[in-house]
Amino acid sequence: MKTIENNLKVIKSRIAKACMVSHRDPSDIRLLLATKTVDTERISQIIGLGESLLGENKVQELKQKCPLLMKFKPEIHFIGHLQSNKIKEVLKWAHCIESIDRLSIAKKLQQRLEFEDKHIDVYIQVNTSSESSKFGIPPTETIELVKAVAQFDRIHIKGLMTIGLLSSKLDDVRRCFKLLKELQQNIIDLNLPPVEMKELSMGMSGDLEIAIEEGATIIRVGTAIFGERIYSDQYYWNESH
Ligand SMILES: *Cc1c(COP(=O)(O)O)cnc(C)c1O
Repeated sequence: MKTIENNLKVIKSRIAKACMVSHRDPSDIRLLLATKTVDTERISQIIGLGESLLGENKVQELKQKCPLLMKFKPEIHFIGHLQSNKIKEVLKWAHCIESIDRLSIAKKLQQRLEFEDKHIDVYIQVNTSSESSKFGIPPTETIELVKAVAQFDRIHIKGLMTIGLLSSKLDDVRRCFKLLKELQQNIIDLNLPPVEMKELSMGMSGDLEIAIEEGATIIRVGTAIFGERIYSDQYYWNESH
């Protein structure tokens, strides 16, 4: 209990510090708790500390945990790779899908939303590090995808998401976040009426300061609050699972 509470305090002071450096207001940055592998007991604890924005990667975990968490009315973002046969289940729980990275999945999502007479907020996930192991649309194809998804009247684009390069070379990490910010500005300049580009979801336990300095509005933190996971991130980020 104390550990999570202390870790949360540390994260908040890291956010505050990064905001000082970049002259930003901490209230403009939302903390999303990346709760993959974290059980509902621990998630309930952190909700009790005033946090309410949760991100899950796997449909299996959404299905297991969300029924037990609904009483707290958390805001759920889906941040994992979205497969078409899982759309229906994701729509049961998620308020936002941060990982739209291809037209085919957006098409299927629109169809399902029409069927259910629903709408959903999404971010477009960009592969800013160009690592083949990661999902996301290549930066050069992002604008084209945004334009195409904007045609779907039930899908509301709110911003962009990226997983930065996992590297100790901070300049290379920063380049990823700068690229996302640039893409955001390019899209804003196109003035595509239904598209909102206020949100930039970027920055994790290891690189949240850089992301905040480069304009993140949502940082997604797991390890620094809940501790190391037993599964490697590749388990969550790769297609084969
Ligand atoms: C796990 C995960 C995070 C959080 O990563 P940490 O390094 O544990 O803070 C953020 N975003 C996505 C998409 C994730 O899968």
